Amino acid sequence: MTSVTETPRVLDGIAIAAEIKAEVALEVAAAREHGYTPGLAVILVGDVPASQIYVRSKVKTCAELGIYSEMVTPAATATTEELLDLVHSLNQRAEIDGILIQLPLPAQVDTNRLLEAVDPAKDVDGFHPVNAGRLLSGASPEQVLAPCTPAGILEVLRRSQIPIAGQRAVVLGRSNIVGKPVAAMLLNASATVTICHSQTRNLEALTREADILVAAIGRAGFVTPAMVRSGATIIDVGINRITSEAELVRFFPGDAKRREGFLKRGSTIVGDVDPAAFALAGAYTPVPGGVCALTIAMLMSNTVKAARLRRL
Ligand code: NAP
Repeated sequence: MTSVTETPRVLDGIAIAAEIKAEVALEVAAAREHGYTPGLAVILVGDVPASQIYVRSKVKTCAELGIYSEMVTPAATATTEELLDLVHSLNQRAEIDGILIQLPLPAQVDTNRLLEAVDPAKDVDGFHPVNAGRLLSGASPEQVLAPCTPAGILEVLRRSQIPIAGQRAVVLGRSNIVGKPVAAMLLNASATVTICHSQTRNLEALTREADILVAAIGRAGFVTPAMVRSGATIIDVGINRITSEAELVRFFPGDAKRREGFLKRGSTIVGDVDPAAFALAGAYTPVPGGVCALTIAMLMSNTVKAARLRRL
């Protein structure tokens, strides 16, 4: 039987991201005193509008924190070989510490080949098999370039003093970008971890055991109140755009502010957790303003980390 305890704590991703960015800015200043400026190269292939927005905000954040950045923009028709040449040349350049390939890539490009061509020491997205392997082998967080969204989730938990060691963590989703790496990080931090996916049986029984529930499946409001243990910490990674009035009313009944935004834009964002389930949580990350706020901050942090580790 699910019961409401006390008012759940909202884990403010925007405030935590600001804290991390302020720390990164100090590290950049210290690096400059030691004679180098951390540098990030972002490869944006073609002209996908959503990717352009993401890349622009990454470049802008670099400028705010004092990180050198450059954007490389091959045409949408670029071949795998042309892009491999570009990655190899960035691998050679001393002033570039981080290489980010904005995904998705056009269909003709072999994404895995490209990601594996990035020098692991410059792999600030943490997608290279060498870095994925280091993460799985339990390398210390200071020594490994881990994927940004999962790393942001761990920062939220740590900076909010949510205990991890010995806790039961359930991760919904097993993607290489979120589910698998966050499960590895929680395991490295000594949680007891269960990973669930589309073939998992008795999902509800498993999620109800979670002290920490991470939802990363890409389905609007999938986690219902019946799936949550009272007092659990819920980390909602999902970003789902809903456009129907019926979904608005289902997820945000009586929420005048949401309605206003919905009417203005014709859509609103909901996570993978039904907002009604948050009422049962001890703490939760809202959508928006939770996990998604952390990803760019962690990219900046990884760039500075890569610059530091390359010079050890
Ligand atoms: P993904 O690659 O599509 O993976 C989804 C995972 O969810 C898969 O492992 C899938 O299982 C599982 N799944 C799907 N339906 C399920 C069901 N009914 N029951 C149990 N598991 C189910 O997604 P992703 O890239 O990890 O992203 C997940 C969500 O996080 C998306 O909403 C995305 O927009 C968001 N996201 C946010 C950020 C950020 O905040 N910056 C970053 C990345 C992603 P199978 O493996 O069995 O198919």
